Amino acid sequence: MNIYNTLTHRIEEFIPNEEGKVAMYTCGPTVYHYAHIGNLRSYIMEDVLEKYLRYDGYNVKRVMNITDVGHLTSDGDTGDDKMLKGAKREHKTVMEIAKFYTDAFFEDCGKLNIKTPDVVAPATQCIGDFIKVISALIEKGFAYESGGNIYFDTSKLEDYYVFHNFSEEDLEVGVREGVEEDTNKKNKADFVLWFTKSKFDSQELKWDSPWGVGYPGWHIECSCISMKNLGEYLDIHCGGVDNIFPHHTNEIAQSEAYLGHKWCNYWFHVHHLNTNSGKMSKSKGEFLTVSLLESKGYDPLIYRFFCLQSHYRKSLVFTYENLDNAKAAYEKLIGRISALVSAEDKGDVISDDLEGLKKGFIAAMNEDLNTSNAITALYDVLKADTTPATKLALIEDFDRVLSLDLKAAAERYLEEKKGGDIPQEVLALVEERKSARKAKDFARADELRDRIAALGYAVKETRQGTEITKL
Ligand code: AMP
Ligand code: ZN
Repeated sequence: MNIYNTLTHRIEEFIPNEEGKVAMYTCGPTVYHYAHIGNLRSYIMEDVLEKYLRYDGYNVKRVMNITDVGHLTSDGDTGDDKMLKGAKREHKTVMEIAKFYTDAFFEDCGKLNIKTPDVVAPATQCIGDFIKVISALIEKGFAYESGGNIYFDTSKLEDYYVFHNFSEEDLEVGVREGVEEDTNKKNKADFVLWFTKSKFDSQELKWDSPWGVGYPGWHIECSCISMKNLGEYLDIHCGGVDNIFPHHTNEIAQSEAYLGHKWCNYWFHVHHLNTNSGKMSKSKGEFLTVSLLESKGYDPLIYRFFCLQSHYRKSLVFTYENLDNAKAAYEKLIGRISALVSAEDKGDVISDDLEGLKKGFIAAMNEDLNTSNAITALYDVLKADTTPATKLALIEDFDRVLSLDLKAAAERYLEEKKGGDIPQEVLALVEERKSARKAKDFARADELRDRIAALGYAVKETRQGTEITKL
């Protein structure tokens, strides 16, 4: 499989450290509010990546953190802790907020058919691991104490800006625009590993540490949770593009300083979902959640389909018009699959056809996870000259990765179309009509069709046999 690697800015062949095995890490949500559908775009595409790696035969172990402490309102170590803000907003404790929104996150993931990672680790459960790594970083000379906080010293690294050719001047602009400068830092890019009470007294959750009572910075949690569960060598690390700097840059700095060698080979970043007015937000404009889409009558899988129709490395604009187009396409697709499901004679699975048609799907996914071409490969299956059994086998095979519930949705569609149990009287008329058609008595067949219609049912001959639907 070829995949774009943000670290090298190239599409590369994916070769894991250990043959047949993939160590995969995903930055989890900050559980201070519901996830918006932009956040969920990232998790959908990461889910597709994981499932495709499994489809490709790899044994994947995927780990995700839950940020329930330490992510400040600015990614640059300033402002309130987002969790504390959430608790104040809802007059609850931080842990109540964390529990509620962690559950809400996984509920949304469930509705979108996003598999739960093999390991899910809340940051507050791993404080001892953070302290161990921070202590080692101080010992190795990569971290220092200043004004009550522990900072990572970025000047100790040969190449801190591993993803970009940033210059200190570029970053200064950012500092001037948004955030007041932290005078404790030796270098502008240094970042906090551990805050103590001396700086943020309002923090609700605090732990004892060798440097005083306090709480961890945001970045350290991902390095530690990854290394604890996946070891010293990580194959692939995922997140949204906004995580590249400073979060992932800082993760690499800490992890490699601690380990003394390269940590992660491939960096997979999903581009943003935007609205017409720009960046998606939880505080401005309509707060777009899965529940909101459901309340407007959209099945969450339509949103998943919408995401899969475009490439993860392109930003995507969300409008209801675009979602309606995806809905129409998804429903049409399900309608076509339902014709295969209801076919009376499905034939056998023809393995040559199966293997031939699989190639299009595999080629699309192998080329930097091109899900939109993979969906084209699905349409190619529907158009192909082969048996319904072969087509259904392929649809189910592709759906191991796409997770659009294609067959189940087609079955549901047929059930709904049937409108429950068809009355005996209608079934008897349908049988009579079949005999009339066999005898080429079309006038009688038409008369019977009208009588069936008068009872509220439509009858139609299709290639798959007689179809009865509610009018
Ligand atoms: P957060 O809960 O803020 O830590 O973000 C969770 C995930 O969503 C991270 O991987 C972010 O990079 C990603 N993310 C944030 N905003 C967007 C967006 N508009 N579109 C896609 N992914 C996003
Ligand atoms: Zn992270």
